[in-house]
Amino acid sequence: RVYMDNHATTRVDPRVVEAMLPYFTEEYGNPGSVGHEAGDAAREAVEQSRATIAAAIGAMPAEVVFTSGATESNNLAIAGVATRRRRRGDHLVSVATEHAAVLGPLRRLEKQGYGLTLLEVEQHGSQSAGRLRPEDLASALTDETCLASVMLANNEIGVVQPVAELALLCHGRGVPLHCDATQGVGRLPVDVGRLGVDLMSFTAHKLYGPKGIGALYVRGSGSGDRPAVRLEPQIVGGGQQQGRRSGTLNVPGIVGFARAVELAVEELAAEVQRLAALRDDLWRRLEALGLGAELCGPGLDAVDQSGGPLRLPGNLDVTFPGLDGESLLLRLGGLAVSSGAACSSSDPSPSHVLRAIGLNEDQARSSLRFGLGRFNTAGDVEFAAEKVAAAAAELKRLG
Ligand code: PLP
Repeated sequence: RVYMDNHATTRVDPRVVEAMLPYFTEEYGNPGSVGHEAGDAAREAVEQSRATIAAAIGAMPAEVVFTSGATESNNLAIAGVATRRRRRGDHLVSVATEHAAVLGPLRRLEKQGYGLTLLEVEQHGSQSAGRLRPEDLASALTDETCLASVMLANNEIGVVQPVAELALLCHGRGVPLHCDATQGVGRLPVDVGRLGVDLMSFTAHKLYGPKGIGALYVRGSGSGDRPAVRLEPQIVGGGQQQGRRSGTLNVPGIVGFARAVELAVEELAAEVQRLAALRDDLWRRLEALGLGAELCGPGLDAVDQSGGPLRLPGNLDVTFPGLDGESLLLRLGGLAVSSGAACSSSDPSPSHVLRAIGLNEDQARSSLRFGLGRFNTAGDVEFAAEKVAAAAAELKRLG
């Protein structure tokens, strides 16, 4: 079996599991408990982990709020800021290609009467397909805009957005910028100061950590001359995390998250090169199958003005004209990838991301997404290309 669906989730690194284990059976105290050692030890582990995670993204520990994952972080950021700032304005700006975990909270606010502008992106065929043009964001911002939300890297086509440039435009209009960096943290260098974001969501299970633990960076008053971001808590109760997110903290998850972030940062530079090389090899092999494979999203070698890649190193999204992605997927025997036909099992319509870059329904339904990760090897790439070739041949035979 070969797992090549690392945008969906990743295997927990054994080194992460090892770090977590004592926090189930030995140090199982509640970090909210005072007056005994069990509580103290749990609290210390949480605060050390918070400091590790904060340092990895260039933030202060107090700016990191733990959540159950990026979905919750996005909800807290979007609903939290929009509710808090409603009197100042009730217009939201985001992008058509965002993840459902951003579009969901935005649509809910729209139903509550907020205005919502979803921006289009560069089209299929362009070297920067999927990129938001900064000038489009600039012209969408109004005096009523209370928040803009733009992801760092797309979960389907891997396109990296010009977030630093977008942040400057937002700040020029006094608008805070939220960034869903779920696919970026651990896969690209991420520094909240350099990106200029005011809020940033990320999650452990995309970076070889456990599921069910994530974080939201919320800019505090200590960084730069911009005002601190204030948000309305979405989960209220015991007042943990300075009231920003109540609930007993997931100590083993937090410890694992910190270890996962630490490992990702240590290995990032080498891993970016290794994954891009594997990904490029996979593309060459798929192109050579004679199936008319077309790349979806930005060019593999495309870079921005500062030389940063326009595409996540481990990402490859390909459409195979005339072949149904779902049928291909079912015939890949032992190869785990995903199809643009149904990106979430509850929604049968083809990928809104592929549609937004201008693919028609058939093209979108004919796509496969490969997500290479830490545990993939050159042998896996060979296996993947062979499986696709065999599945395509079988489908063609069936006519
Ligand atoms: N945002 C993006 C871009 C994602 O890829 C995902 C994962 O599917 C999420 C948000 C949701 O993350 P989580 O599973 O931690 O809630």
